[in-house]
Amino acid sequence: MIDIQKYKLPFFVTQELEKCSNCGLCHSVCPVYQLSGLETLSARGKINLLKAVETGQLEPGKISRKIFDRCLLCYACKTVCPSGVDTENIWTEARQYFARVTGAGLKGAAVRTAFKADNLKKAAHAAKSLQDFFGIKIGKKGFRPDFADKFLIDVLPDTVPAKWEKRYRIGYFIGCVSNFFLSEIALSAIEVLSAVGCEVVIPKRQVCCGAPAFNNGEMAAAAALAKRNIQVFLEAEVDYVISADATCGGSFVHEYRRLAGDYPLYEEFAAKHREFHSFILEAGLPEKLKAIPSTIVYHDSCHLAHTQGIRIPPRRILQSLPGVKLVEMAHSDICCGFGGSFSLLHAEESSGISRRKLQNAIESGADELAAGSPGCILKLQNEAKRENIKLPIRHTAEIICERLDG
Ligand code: SF4
Ligand code: SF4
Repeated sequence: MIDIQKYKLPFFVTQELEKCSNCGLCHSVCPVYQLSGLETLSARGKINLLKAVETGQLEPGKISRKIFDRCLLCYACKTVCPSGVDTENIWTEARQYFARVTGAGLKGAAVRTAFKADNLKKAAHAAKSLQDFFGIKIGKKGFRPDFADKFLIDVLPDTVPAKWEKRYRIGYFIGCVSNFFLSEIALSAIEVLSAVGCEVVIPKRQVCCGAPAFNNGEMAAAAALAKRNIQVFLEAEVDYVISADATCGGSFVHEYRRLAGDYPLYEEFAAKHREFHSFILEAGLPEKLKAIPSTIVYHDSCHLAHTQGIRIPPRRILQSLPGVKLVEMAHSDICCGFGGSFSLLHAEESSGISRRKLQNAIESGADELAAGSPGCILKLQNEAKRENIKLPIRHTAEIICERLDG
């Protein structure tokens, strides 16, 4: 007999499960379901699994935990759901729940250790040394990204002045993908921000936003990182906090509310966050921009489209750039396959999803792919290289920066 009390689900989850009408519309947007064809991996399948746990028909074990780990946390299912099921919060609650009832295991211990204060930076330096001196690359077959030559946090100045008249003082949040792998994204974003009148402050004590720890159910580790970032950026006395990393921005808006909701400084920090594209539009693109002819297709990163509801600002920016023709692709707001640790733990599945995204981009007739999340760009560039696809994939910030005049 299964002890229902022992395996009781959080009240919020049981309430949300009731809303699901089993319509299956979420199948149409779930990349993992579409690739595998497995009902258990769809949003509906996972909801029914939790219902079975709730009613005592199923004992939560390692298998059910693995099913929840095989999810990109892309939240397309939340956007499409006609019954308003809050899958975003169900999935993160479920990961915490399984970590609690089945034990977080080695993965939990690794996440807790890696995401403690400055440990990630130390681990990245050690991994980079392995790459530089022995040619050993971290990751899994199918996804072994190259580290940048230098980590940005070590080389950027504390402040970059506004290029013309100073209109704002902003704090820039680098984000781990730009910091460790794709420096050009943050460098371009800082240059664009400076060109629209921002004095850009880069606090050196900033740490990972905490999203990977949060997404793996390691809430204490994530909360410690969130509180440190909140403190560091408020101490910098900036008007706004901006990042060109959609995942970090999304976590400031959503995860931080849950992680640091009772932290007295949270609301002050949240009020300062501005999404990169929306801010650039509000500040106004620089008047003098060079015309560079290009047909660009835009990929909606999940943490912009589904987490923050940002779809129009990046397109408006791209359409305004001289020489740019913006085209659309099929399923532009379906995940690229990155999904943070998903790309390492389920590398082949992740690559299969990335290949579909690249195929859709090619079929749009574009000669360049733009996105707003460094994670998507890292994954898609890696897949394009593996498949010998010659399609430049860049952040919107890089595309604007290339056109800055003077
Ligand atoms: S779309 Fe929403 S209501 Fe329909 S099956 Fe999926 S989660 Fe349930
Ligand atoms: S979050 Fe994404 S991958 Fe996970 S169930 Fe929903 S649509 Fe599928």
